[in-house]
Amino acid sequence: MTDKELFEDLSYQRKNVYEEIDDAAKAEMNALCEDYKNFLDRGKTERECVIEAVRLAEENGFVPLDKVTSLKPGDKVYAVNRKKNILAAVIGSEDITKGVNIVGAHIDSPRLDLKQNPLYEKTGMALLKTHYYGGLKKYQWTALPLAIHGVVITESGSKTITIGEEPGDPVFCITDLLPHLAKDQMSKKMTEGIEAENMNVLIAGMPAPSDEVKEKVKLAVLKLLNEKYDMKEKDFQTAEIEIVPAGAARDVGLDRSFVGAYGQDDRVCAYTTLRAIFGIENPKKTAVAFLADKEEIGSMGNTGSQSAFMQMMIAEIVEKLTGACSVTAINRVITNTACMSSDVNAAVDPNYESVYEMNNATFAGCGVALTKYTGARGKYDSSDASAEFVYEMRKIMDDNGVIWQTGELGKVDQGGGGTIAQYVANLNMDVIDAGVPVLSMHAPFELTAKCDVYMAYRAYNAFYMNR
Ligand code: MN
Ligand code: MN
Repeated sequence: MTDKELFEDLSYQRKNVYEEIDDAAKAEMNALCEDYKNFLDRGKTERECVIEAVRLAEENGFVPLDKVTSLKPGDKVYAVNRKKNILAAVIGSEDITKGVNIVGAHIDSPRLDLKQNPLYEKTGMALLKTHYYGGLKKYQWTALPLAIHGVVITESGSKTITIGEEPGDPVFCITDLLPHLAKDQMSKKMTEGIEAENMNVLIAGMPAPSDEVKEKVKLAVLKLLNEKYDMKEKDFQTAEIEIVPAGAARDVGLDRSFVGAYGQDDRVCAYTTLRAIFGIENPKKTAVAFLADKEEIGSMGNTGSQSAFMQMMIAEIVEKLTGACSVTAINRVITNTACMSSDVNAAVDPNYESVYEMNNATFAGCGVALTKYTGARGKYDSSDASAEFVYEMRKIMDDNGVIWQTGELGKVDQGGGGTIAQYVANLNMDVIDAGVPVLSMHAPFELTAKCDVYMAYRAYNAFYMNR
């Protein structure tokens, strides 16, 4: 062996997926990503993602868990929690107390929520007040086309609102100051350049003809909303309406190597998780796909991953499969369970190399990222996966041709972040983060490399079928 050969044998080299996969795999990758873009367009809110996940689950032979009284190996079921959180499972042949295999992603993304009393008129225009959701850079959300997605419940029932996505639809906008008059604004810190209370969405500018009412534009808006949705202003108080970037997912690059779209954190992992569970038949261990809400604000609430929903559904599966679910049985299932927390990592951005540590950062195009720990500073708020578990996952990836890379979120002390991993780990399961590197994370237009989307799908599939 020459020293060069010896070095290649002994050292680790990150691989570029495009250089490793054959034409058949590339065709599979492209087909997957075409379908992925459709999923992104149909699911711009957590509720829409759940509707789409249910549609796909039923198309793939899954039935509601609460509709079946008993389960047997090979059965496919799903359960929806409050329209924003879903779990799907394929029952395995092995004794379930040996644990299940969970892949868990989140389907909420940074956005602007309407406040409870959002509508007002000022300077001849009608606007909607918003409250931002999740960690977003506020300046990125001005002067771009926005769409309205949500649900409003009126005395005549619940209505779904989607405006700004169809080709003939109007869109909405948060205006920004012209540079000519932005002397004061431009000298502010970026965190303060756009203030949260100035993130008001322009919704109308045409006054209703009226001699009696002063707020004529507001009157016109209320009339339009009442005609279309039978709603009154007070119905905003109980509604859930989200403002998201308008428009469809696109290919990015001359070679179409990237997908560009809003909400890829974490719908890229949610979609590939769904595709992976839909693609498996008769696994040894029960396979579970879990799509959570509220990750972007700390996984709180009854639809977030800190909710008991996942445990409750696993207990229900155990009971329907074995006839009973004792405390000891569910404890054993949970203890022996492994989870891939499928969430995105930060891909190295060539414009901002200085915040990444190149030996340990993730690169777009180098495959699914296995992230042993997240957190910030001295690994605070991190679930640090054990050596044994990381090795087990590594072996499954390598044995099944999954191209993967390690991931750390930027330089130590540069910042940090968390995923649902810490909350899943708290249940006493083994967990590792495994997801797609993203460029411009949390921006209105995020980028992922198509080959990484494909490798995430392959990773979850390999995990389900081989652990
Ligand atoms: Mn995420
Ligand atoms: Mn995020």
